[in-house]
Amino acid sequence: MLHLPVYLDYNATTPCDPAVVEAMLPYFTTQFGNAASRQHALGWQAEEAVDYARKQVAALIGADATEIVFTSGATESNNLALKGVVEMYAGKGNHIITCVTEHKAVLDACKHLEKQGVLVTYLPVDDKGLISLEQLAAAITPATILIAIMYANNETGVMQPVQAISRIAKQHGILFFSDATQAVGKVPLNVINDGIDIMSFSAHKMYGPKGVGGLYVRRRNPRVRLTAQIDGGGHERGLRSGTLNVPGIVGLGKAAELCRTQLEAEAQQMRKLRDKLENALLQLEGVSVNGDAEHRLPHVSNLAFQYVDGNALMLGFSKNIAVAAGSACTSASMEPSFVLKALGLEDELARSSLRFSVGRFTTEEEIDYVIEQVSQTVKTLRSLSIQ
Ligand SMILES: *Cc1c(COP(=O)(O)O)cnc(C)c1O
Repeated sequence: MLHLPVYLDYNATTPCDPAVVEAMLPYFTTQFGNAASRQHALGWQAEEAVDYARKQVAALIGADATEIVFTSGATESNNLALKGVVEMYAGKGNHIITCVTEHKAVLDACKHLEKQGVLVTYLPVDDKGLISLEQLAAAITPATILIAIMYANNETGVMQPVQAISRIAKQHGILFFSDATQAVGKVPLNVINDGIDIMSFSAHKMYGPKGVGGLYVRRRNPRVRLTAQIDGGGHERGLRSGTLNVPGIVGLGKAAELCRTQLEAEAQQMRKLRDKLENALLQLEGVSVNGDAEHRLPHVSNLAFQYVDGNALMLGFSKNIAVAAGSACTSASMEPSFVLKALGLEDELARSSLRFSVGRFTTEEEIDYVIEQVSQTVKTLRSLSIQ
């Protein structure tokens, strides 16, 4: 039996894997200790659980456990990375290079820094959503201290050439920070091979709980130093004070382990379902893929439906299918997506776009249902608009 609505919005958030919830449960009740309590067993048990989770997370991204800082999620991690670097390296320079299609947590942190006098270059993207390496290299000045480019875009799934970016950063002795929230656990990723110095991730985008995430901070070649943005008891080696969210961290660790052991098979399964959906919808006239179809996460399909109002399209099946529109849709305004506009889409086409993101629990039956529903709705709306 099909459970409605069919959830194809895994890029917004994922359900917790039942194994993650199971791993977390004892840390709410019997093993509720504070990981900073050094005087008794409950504290030691909590600390042990956090240490274990740190290893699980590190193993997923090819890091050392000592390089993982737990936070409340990728928004906080992005803020810590950007503001932490700017404060720590103020003596070296005051210029950051980022890109126009970054997540708001990066863009708004950059805007905040600009008000404090930091210079920020926002690289454009081409019609596939990719930055130009030549433009990146040309933007570097003696004052540049950080390149901040996301691993994969949350709206289009487009993956930036991180290895080439990190080589440019390294040549110039500049730190490379990547918001990898959408990529971690979905595609093979290794901070050493990829040359990443600082990297954000979030549990709820990879079948873990909401409100917990982390920041990878490289400890050698080079050793990255950050200024803490939350002061207090000196938790997380002074980088992020506050009593550790032990159940959440245990859940993040378990989620990372599940992703690591299932990654290859899961990516293949995601790609199969995504391609089936995408190929079927591309059969409809006037449907096209937004962003580079090749350099893309295996589970994401952002499609433009020409001559169909995105709002009407959503309303046509919104009770039965959960997807994301190409617009920040509050009931009052329909602002077209700034990401799609950056790819050169007109407002109208951006408003006619939908993001489908499949996940671990998506079934072929669900994909068949979505193909049928979306195709019917598009045909109905188009026949109406002809009259
Ligand atoms: C979801 C997301 C974030 C924000 O993560 P939270 O843990 O919800 O704060 C940041 N960056 C990207 C690319 C995301 O997809």
